[in-house]
Amino acid sequence: MDHDMSVQQWVRPEILAMAGYTPGEQPKPGEQVIKLNTNENPYGPPEAVKQAMHAAIHDNLRRYPSPDGYGVREAAARVLGHGLTPEQIILGNGSDDLLTMLLRTFIDPGQVVASMEPTYTLYEALVTIQGGCYRSVPWQPDGGLPLEGLVALQPKLIFVTRPNAPTGHVVPLEQVAALCQAVAQSAVVVLDEAYGDFAEDHGLPLLAAHPNLIITRSASKSLSLAGMRIGIGFMHADVALQMHKVRDSYNVDRVAQAALLAAYENWSDYAPLIARIKQQRQWTTTQLRKRGFEVKDSYGNFVLARVPQGGLDGLQWLESLKKRGILIRYFGSIPQLSEFLRITIGTEEEMALLMTAIDEIMKVA
Ligand SMILES: *Cc1c(COP(=O)(O)O)cnc(C)c1O
Repeated sequence: MDHDMSVQQWVRPEILAMAGYTPGEQPKPGEQVIKLNTNENPYGPPEAVKQAMHAAIHDNLRRYPSPDGYGVREAAARVLGHGLTPEQIILGNGSDDLLTMLLRTFIDPGQVVASMEPTYTLYEALVTIQGGCYRSVPWQPDGGLPLEGLVALQPKLIFVTRPNAPTGHVVPLEQVAALCQAVAQSAVVVLDEAYGDFAEDHGLPLLAAHPNLIITRSASKSLSLAGMRIGIGFMHADVALQMHKVRDSYNVDRVAQAALLAAYENWSDYAPLIARIKQQRQWTTTQLRKRGFEVKDSYGNFVLARVPQGGLDGLQWLESLKKRGILIRYFGSIPQLSEFLRITIGTEEEMALLMTAIDEIMKVA
């Protein structure tokens, strides 16, 4: 039997045709690197959160977790305010799991899912797996929403990333509200706030007026819990009811639920960590500009920097930094990003080491 031939016959054409999403590189255990490539939080979770996770590790692990994390959702509603109820909140195994659930809930094969470019590259992969049709339009030159272009695609679902990755910019909330209004009869708008806690404002206040708005957040960035895989979704209670049907029955494990509950119960412990990252983001932006990089203001925990003209190109910067033990993200396969580096905001010490490395590289080049 020709083995490869059979695989071709068994696998769905959509899957055979797709390249598959490439996550940022993760170092091997024990490898010493400065990791500024996947927007993780450089600081560990607060003590209270770690203790709650330890406490969750006991014989009860033989039992399934709460299927819908109701207690955690109550805490989230209480802490976040904005009139939220637990019925409007749904948990995921990472916010990527929520994105998959959204596509399962709303997208039939062949239906259009739209977003702007550049943005989070996972959307396209997830839409392809679902059999949907991914289409994108460029952001407006000022970072605004291309409202007419989006509507013209006749999408069923629209992803708006705010702050956007990898640009770090935020689209004005009034434009998100206007988009929800414009497609109210035909589409849902998914506001991806994976980096929302690093911005100055967010979309929760829009939920009450826009039943077709869904907001997703992640514990991976601001809450220092990327290793736990937790996402939190906010939406109209009637939409949440439908989404619960497509969820894996026990999609968030016991330890993760304990971690998220403790994160909400100790919410103020995160404020100093987030403040430090924002301060460091400002310092990094200034330092990169001094060295000839073009950097727009970012509202995430990363910056997107255009490499100085006439020196190394993007790929050479990636490799030179890697040789010095510093990992950053380079999106070489996206044409409009070929001269840009995306750099996660690390600790003060890590960012100082990055500047030293950049100075060394510029001296040699
Ligand atoms: C990191 C990220 C996510 C995924 O977060 P997880 O909770 O780790 O799955 C979703 N959207 C954007 C824009 C991200 O950058």
